[in-house]
Amino acid sequence: MTKKTIIIDSYECNGCGSCVEICPEVFAMDDDGEKAILVDPDAEVTEKVREAAAYCPQKCIEFD
Ligand code: SF4
Repeated sequence: MTKKTIIIDSYECNGCGSCVEICPEVFAMDDDGEKAILVDPDAEVTEKVREAAAYCPQKCIEFD
């Protein structure tokens, strides 16, 4: 199985911060506090990451 990459659709992100709250190891807010970014672009897709994606109101966290 190939490793999945985490992708945030910054256009759709509304900056709610939910992903950061659920999984701060992987997600953070950008300097303006408006969009989610990845702390580590190579981070593994853990259960927490999947949970963050499931709770994202914009459904803008994806795996490729
Ligand atoms: S949960 Fe989704 S909409 Fe909210 S900050 Fe994270 S990526 Fe953006």
